[in-house]
Amino acid sequence: MNYEANKIAFAKPELTVEDLTIALHQANLKLTESNKKLVESEKKRSELLANISHDLRSPITTLQGYVEYLLTYDHLEEQEVFLTLNQMHGKLHTLDYLLNEMLMVTSLDSFNDSISLQPVQIESCLSEFFNSCKEDKKYAQRRLSFRVPEYFPYLAMLNQKMFLRVLDNLFTNALKYSSPNDEIILKADIYEREVIIAVTDTGIGIEQKYLPLIFDRTFMISDSRTPEQSMGCGLGLSIAASIMEKHHGQIWCESTLGKGSTFYLSSLLCEY
Ligand code: ADP
Repeated sequence: MNYEANKIAFAKPELTVEDLTIALHQANLKLTESNKKLVESEKKRSELLANISHDLRSPITTLQGYVEYLLTYDHLEEQEVFLTLNQMHGKLHTLDYLLNEMLMVTSLDSFNDSISLQPVQIESCLSEFFNSCKEDKKYAQRRLSFRVPEYFPYLAMLNQKMFLRVLDNLFTNALKYSSPNDEIILKADIYEREVIIAVTDTGIGIEQKYLPLIFDRTFMISDSRTPEQSMGCGLGLSIAASIMEKHHGQIWCESTLGKGSTFYLSSLLCEY
C-alpha cells in the first residue's frame, strides 16, 4: 500500500473495500502523473544533451581543420598564419561561450530553490550596467537610451550578479537581433509593489507563434540566422527565466515582427 492509501487507512479504521479502491485509484493517478513529468523531463534532458553535442561539434570540427591546415603547410605566409589564428580565436570564443551557458544551466538546476538575495538599489544597478554598455564598442552602432526616472529610490531583493547576467543576455539579444542605427532602450517603472524593468529594441521582432516558445531550453528561431546570431544555442532566455524564477519574479516578452521586441522583468520591491 502506498503513502496515500496508508494515510486514509490510518485516518479511517473502519475502511471498506470501496474506500481502499478509491484511495488506490487516486494514488495510482498521482503516480501516473509524476511518472509522465519524469519521462518529459528526461526527454528534455536528452534533447538538451543532443543539441549541446551538436553545437559543440561544429566549432571543434572547424578548429581541427585550421590546426591541420597550419600543420600541413609549413611555408605559409605570415599573414595567412595570422588570419588562421584569428579565425581559431573566434571559434575558441564560441566554444567558451557555449561551455559557460551549459555550466550556468547545470548550476541553476543544482540550486534547489534558493539563491542568496540582498537589497539592491535599482537605479544605481541599472545605470552602472547601462554605462558599461555605452562604453562597450560592440554597441557603438546602436542608439542606447536610459529611461529610468531621476528620482527612483527603490530597492529590490536581488542576486546582483545573476540579475546582471539576465540584463546582459537581453541586451546581447537586442544587439544580435537588430541592425546598425536601431535603438535599445532600458526602462524601469513601479507597478504596485513591483519594479518592472523593460529592454526594448527596434530590431527584427518575433513572430507571435514563437512567443510562447522562446523561453524553452534550446529553442531558437533558425530562419535565416546571420553568423552573429548563430553563435547562440537557444539557452540564453531559458537561463534568464530560471534566474527570474529564483528571484520570485517573472520574465515575459511582447513583440511585433519587423518592428522590435520588449522583454520585461518583474521583481518585488523591498519594504522601505
Ligand atoms: P539564442 O542563443 O538563439 O539567441 P535565446 O534563448 O537567447 O537563444 O533566444 C531564443 C530565440 O528567441 C532566439 O533564437 C531568437 O530567435 C529569439 N529572440 C530572442 N531575443 C530576441 C530579440 N530581442 N529580437 C528578436 N528575436 C529574439
